[in-house]
Amino acid sequence: MLKPLITGNWKMNTTIAEGVGLVMRLRELVRGVEDVEVAIAPPFTSIHHLRFLIADSPIKLAGQNLSTEKNGAYTGEVSGEMLRDVGCDYVIIGHSERRQHFAESDETVNKKIFAALRAGLKPIVCVGETIEEREGGKTLAVVKRQIKTGLKGLGPGMVKDLVAAYEPVWAIGTGKNATAEQVEEVHNALRELLYEKFGTASAKDLRIIYGGSVKPENIDSFMAQPNIDGALVGGASLKAEDFARIVKFKKTSRGKHS
Ligand code: PEP
Repeated sequence: MLKPLITGNWKMNTTIAEGVGLVMRLRELVRGVEDVEVAIAPPFTSIHHLRFLIADSPIKLAGQNLSTEKNGAYTGEVSGEMLRDVGCDYVIIGHSERRQHFAESDETVNKKIFAALRAGLKPIVCVGETIEEREGGKTLAVVKRQIKTGLKGLGPGMVKDLVAAYEPVWAIGTGKNATAEQVEEVHNALRELLYEKFGTASAKDLRIIYGGSVKPENIDSFMAQPNIDGALVGGASLKAEDFARIVKFKKTSRGKHS
């Protein structure tokens, strides 16, 4: 079984100096953590500086986005190969802020997953419903569609490094998290879909993590669920103490990662 994954999404925050300060503190706080995988997704401009600070620490690097293309005349874009070159292991794909502000569709997400795998990056694929969709009883249909289209064309041998992140849009940056039971229901449905699509042997280690106002106060309840394999953390990842407490969530016998 793979270790749980706790990833911090810094979004468009931090100068290089701020990022360095944050990582220096975080690195002390998570020193010796071995049972959890820790990743941070700083802005592109800081990654090169931070890669030297995380050496000999459990912290890995993630990109917040990538181009569908490898190189060429695509002004403003950053490719998966470039992210690999600067030391990233992971890349976040299809975050709801990219879907909302940059018109990313499930089809774009699909292309970006292929681009990430081509470059040797592990994709963290975000899905999640809006509040209208939840209130309309469409949550499971929406996330299943996003996964089906996003992962179209992938074979069973290609999904072992893939991470699915369930991030209800209404819970991101709002302080209003989904309950552990609501998340467990969706993760369970996604797990079944992934088994159906790729077979149990290929999909059994695939991690499904939750994002949406994760904080030190609620992480333990999420990680006590059998189908929650980690967290994608926005706001709280900008405070080293809070993020470290999330990384050091309390293990319980119900959670799979005790
Ligand atoms: C996110 O950016 O993916 C996120 C979940 O943000 P927050 O934790 O601030 O809700």
